[in-house]
Amino acid sequence: LQKNSIANQIKAIVGQEHFFDSYEDRLCYSYDATIEEALPEWIAMPGSVEEIARLMALANEEVFPVYPRGAGTGLSGGSVPLKGGLAMVLTRLNRIREINQEDLYAVVETGVITSDLHEQVEALGLMYPPDPSSMKVTTMGGNVAENAGGLRGLKYGVTKDYVLALEVVTPTGQVIRVGSKCVKSVSGYDLTRLFVGSEGTLGIITEITVKLLPAPQHKESMMAIFDDMNMAAKAVADIIKSGVIPATLEFMDHTSINAVEDFKKIGLPRDAQAILLLETDGVEAAAKQEAEKIIAVCKANRARDVKIAATEQEKLQIWEARRACLSALARVRPNTILEDATVPRSKIPQMVRGVTDIANKYGIHIGNFGHAGDGNLHPTILTDLRNTEERQRVQKAIDEIFALALSLGGTLTGEHGIGTTKAKYLEKEFGSEALAVMRAIKMALDPHNILNPGKIFIADSASV
Ligand SMILES: Cc1cc2nc3c(=O)[nH]c(=O)nc-3n(C[C@H](O)[C@H](O)[C@H](O)COP(=O)(O)OP(=O)(O)OC[C@H]3O[C@@H](n4cnc5c(N)ncnc54)[C@H](O)[C@@H]3O)c2cc1C
Repeated sequence: LQKNSIANQIKAIVGQEHFFDSYEDRLCYSYDATIEEALPEWIAMPGSVEEIARLMALANEEVFPVYPRGAGTGLSGGSVPLKGGLAMVLTRLNRIREINQEDLYAVVETGVITSDLHEQVEALGLMYPPDPSSMKVTTMGGNVAENAGGLRGLKYGVTKDYVLALEVVTPTGQVIRVGSKCVKSVSGYDLTRLFVGSEGTLGIITEITVKLLPAPQHKESMMAIFDDMNMAAKAVADIIKSGVIPATLEFMDHTSINAVEDFKKIGLPRDAQAILLLETDGVEAAAKQEAEKIIAVCKANRARDVKIAATEQEKLQIWEARRACLSALARVRPNTILEDATVPRSKIPQMVRGVTDIANKYGIHIGNFGHAGDGNLHPTILTDLRNTEERQRVQKAIDEIFALALSLGGTLTGEHGIGTTKAKYLEKEFGSEALAVMRAIKMALDPHNILNPGKIFIADSASV
């Protein structure tokens, strides 16, 4: 009876046509891009900030969980409705409200697709740098909630470096505005930074103001081919040491190269042990000079060849290869588990070697690619989780990958978030006191623990 009454109240807020509760609909919103799954009770697609605030007020009154969701491409189980309740899908809020060329900012609603913003600002000679590989489908709200990174992160930084201001509905249903359109503002606590990367646990982001940059005049894209994976990893550290910060410095190992080639037939060197995909940008002469320096470093590290993309088509192919990695690897076996443990850049060679050793030790298949220039690799485990014995080996390997990253001074996640999948390791990174501060913030904002419960903190924890 109570469930029916809640369903009717949700319908009254968002309208019958934006409410769903059939089994088939619930199934569609039960997963993200991880292997996590849980059915929501109801799905609502609110069309305004007022509707979202009313839904949160209702959730507090009736005490049911709410799971914010953008495009559902998350890689840490962030939008999975672990405890049932309401999946709140935010894709209807999809207007670009303003692009300001004088003050270099854009104001977007949460459901705007990231690459739609790119297209619109690029047409004006501007640039919004964060470019996750999934940008053709992801929402800006999802990017902010996960503090998404991308291929240009090395030189330009990640989402948090571009968010100036936010409109947020708090877990108890208040609408607040934090941050400022000014490029400088130190008024009060920096709540903008608190909400960025909060993984949908502290508030529902409804509007985002982001900083824009003038687009670079020229780009040089290249592919360095290595017969030895360790030398490729060393080249990454040496490029940074040489004083050049490329816009992009991506890594693909032999397994990833072949999976992409099977999928896309781009003409990648199938026999290579690793490739680095690089881009310099800026004023033409500077971009070219930096490219020459990079080529010299790669050759000093025994690169077999460094190919410079001569045409726009060749440039696009290089980046298509990299963006296709996860989808290509996902075709190899029934399940794909992608991790994003991150290490200081100088530790990339040890990390790459360590992951290979772990794969050999447990007899599992791991493809490795990622944002090498950021120290952010994506060891991708290709497996079949129906095989219980293999599943146990995979779990042990994952535990060791995280332990290795932390032992090298790294972090559990460079861009995908803690979500459900890494919650059990979080205390190892920060210790119990820091975790207690995080819990206190969560409890202060969300006293009933109804917004995205079961994420970041271990699901069965007594407090949150
Ligand atoms: C093929 C592939 C490639 C990827 N490449 C990258 C990459 O290069 N870099 C990278 O960083 N990530 C990458 N990802 C991960 C994922 O795309 C990002 O985390 C992305 O930011 C998620 O956006 P989304 O709209 O899909 O959000 P969802 O998956 O729907 O949600 C992600 C989290 O954000 C919360 N959330 C969503 N909207 C809001 C909101 N308005 N307010 C509050 N919380 C909200 C959800 O509750 C959840 O916790 C990739 C994923 C795939 C499948």
